[in-house]
Amino acid sequence: MRESIFVYETDQEVIQFLRSFFKRRKNLRAEFVDDIASLKERVSQSKEKNRVCIVDVDALPKLKPSTVDCPVLLAIIPRSPQAGIRKAVRHGVENYLISPLQEEDLAFKIKTALERKKTIELLRKKTGMLQTIVDLTSLVTSTLDPQEILYLIVKKISQVIPVTRCSIIRIDRNGDYADVAATFESPTMGRIRLDLNKYPEIKKALISEKPVVIHDVATDPIMEKVRDIIFPLGIRSIVVIPIVFHEEVIGTLFLRTSRAGYAFSEYEIKLCNAIANASANALYNAFLFEKIEDEKTRLEKLAITDYLTGVYNIRYFYHRIKEEFSRAQRYTLPLSCLMLDIDLFKGINDRYGHRIGDIILREFAQLLKKHTRKSDVLARYGGEEFIMLLPQAAESGAVAKAEAMRAYVEKYRFRGLKGKKLLTVSIGVATYPSRSIKNMEDLISFADNALYTAKTGGRNRVMVYKP
Ligand code: GH3
Ligand code: MG
Ligand code: MG
Repeated sequence: MRESIFVYETDQEVIQFLRSFFKRRKNLRAEFVDDIASLKERVSQSKEKNRVCIVDVDALPKLKPSTVDCPVLLAIIPRSPQAGIRKAVRHGVENYLISPLQEEDLAFKIKTALERKKTIELLRKKTGMLQTIVDLTSLVTSTLDPQEILYLIVKKISQVIPVTRCSIIRIDRNGDYADVAATFESPTMGRIRLDLNKYPEIKKALISEKPVVIHDVATDPIMEKVRDIIFPLGIRSIVVIPIVFHEEVIGTLFLRTSRAGYAFSEYEIKLCNAIANASANALYNAFLFEKIEDEKTRLEKLAITDYLTGVYNIRYFYHRIKEEFSRAQRYTLPLSCLMLDIDLFKGINDRYGHRIGDIILREFAQLLKKHTRKSDVLARYGGEEFIMLLPQAAESGAVAKAEAMRAYVEKYRFRGLKGKKLLTVSIGVATYPSRSIKNMEDLISFADNALYTAKTGGRNRVMVYKP
């Protein structure tokens, strides 16, 4: 990297000396300017990170070193050094040169000025990095929801590193897939699965357990197979940092940007590494949290499901009918109940055996379930009897529903029966409000009465309770 030196000086002798000095130093690019205004302008326009100004001490009051976007100033002090030094110090320059200048002295002071600047910059970066980690640590401890923590982490990264996309990827133990645990672009995204065969850079990071940096998607051989997918997304550089918890890679940070070619600095990568270490706990907790939530949901589901048929059990049905009945009473809404019983099921058992009977029972229940709306409740009432609750359904609607169910069963080819024999169902219907239905037990028992009528009337039919 070249260094730029901006010079403002009026003394022709000094200018001469400096010109010949810089001519012999190819790594330093010197620019001589005619006045303070253009010096300031050139400095602010300069893209060079390493730059130094050399100015005449008499120019200092006009220049005001602290306003120049270039911390290093070497004042050239001409004839009366004592007063010059005082002036230079008062204006807060980095260092000074006394004319007549000496080659070695000038070279040394430029070198130290540049080094000092680099060191300061380095320290500033390090401080920023530490600050980010401190910020993150306090973020991580200030919230308990692991999902939120992961989001805060990606958000923080996006604030300190210019990225197009930034995510935390969670690795599935069985290898080929990964989940996006958090992404800055969408804080409330659902679960997104990644097919790792389409992300060779993540795969590489998982195998090597080391950061993977793709400087340019266009030229990196790892990306060859997926280039056509990634290019249209405008992604040019990628960083993948493994997140390790108890010696196991449980995820990665995944940063992508549209800038190509060394888009991520060494410091940014170091910072990401530190963040990855800090996030490991949160990611692991998110894992656990989700697992526990999954287990909880599974248990809750199990507790209200009939083990053989997979529909709700009677306990859940009672819980729901209680709720729905009081709602219907409160708002004078209709509420219907269907009681369904398979016709002549004993014969099926006798002919095909209990085991096949069970299979058919499950098929029957699943068939009903398939045609049950989410707002309705279908449960196994016992044996080969099922019960259905239809909130806000009046009698006509309930009868239509029951008739549809009856027809589905009649037409269905049960695999357990190998399509040889057809099965039918009888259904009783009762609807609240009705003169004789005072409570939910009445509703159930009147549906049962109607079912009895359907059975005695010849089966495979729908009957409505009439008081
Ligand atoms: P209908 O209802 O039409 O009057 O005749 P049905 O033969 O279905 O009536 P019933 O109530 O007399 O017999 C019900 C039979 O359902 C008795 C039992 O063999 C069978 N059953 C009840 N629960 C189960 C079960 O969990 N698995 C199997 N395989 N069979 C069951
Ligand atoms: Mg029966
Ligand atoms: Mg029965």
